Amino acid sequence: MESTVASKLEALLKLQSIDSQLDEIRRVRGDLPEEVQDLEDEIEGYEVRVRKFDDEVGALNDAIVQRKQAIKDSEGLIRKYEEQQENVRNNREYDAITKEVELQKLEIQISEKKIKEAHYQIEQKIAEIEGTKNRLEERRKDLENKKHELDQIVSESEEEENKLEQERVSASEQIEDRLLSAYSRIRKNVRNGLAVVQVKRDACGGCFNTVPPQRQADIAAQKKVIVCEHCGRILAGVEQRVY
Ligand SMILES: [Zn+2]
Repeated sequence: MESTVASKLEALLKLQSIDSQLDEIRRVRGDLPEEVQDLEDEIEGYEVRVRKFDDEVGALNDAIVQRKQAIKDSEGLIRKYEEQQENVRNNREYDAITKEVELQKLEIQISEKKIKEAHYQIEQKIAEIEGTKNRLEERRKDLENKKHELDQIVSESEEEENKLEQERVSASEQIEDRLLSAYSRIRKNVRNGLAVVQVKRDACGGCFNTVPPQRQADIAAQKKVIVCEHCGRILAGVEQRVY
């Protein structure tokens, strides 16, 4: 059975009505889904930063351990040199050992300086981590609230949304693919999501530009699919005027 233009237009109007209701449900949800996503991204960023700080502090602590061991080694060498100095045979040997001792003392000084620097860096990093951890906690609370808000809004409209989605599938099945893709294309290109409108008060129901009487008569006849010459929306009929 071949469907008439009138029945095609009727199916398109039905689909438009379903989509407009779905648009409204999503409008009520507003930016919440996006805000939740943004918060999740922000939190992930902070978590990465905290992990990086932890790694850096770990590396600094390792360096301190190594420097402390180096100091112990130098102290051991100094003790050994000082024992040797008691048994030297001449001044030349004595001076040579003195130089070695001074060298090890210098090594100890360098290590002590490095340890001090590392402690200072750790302190700074800990302060930074604290700030980030505080922000992370705040954002986690924000996320919890937003998610709760979104869940509530979604659960209020979920049943209706599912019902409309099902209706949408069966309404779409009654419209040929070519017309359906034109409908989707127009919907994407217009501001209010209306791809199928009626002529109201002599004007296009989408863009409100005047539709000439002859064209209105063609639209009312429903012999072919006619689009608005101004906005490209499908004009599915002429609304009956009530006097
Ligand atoms: Zn228009």
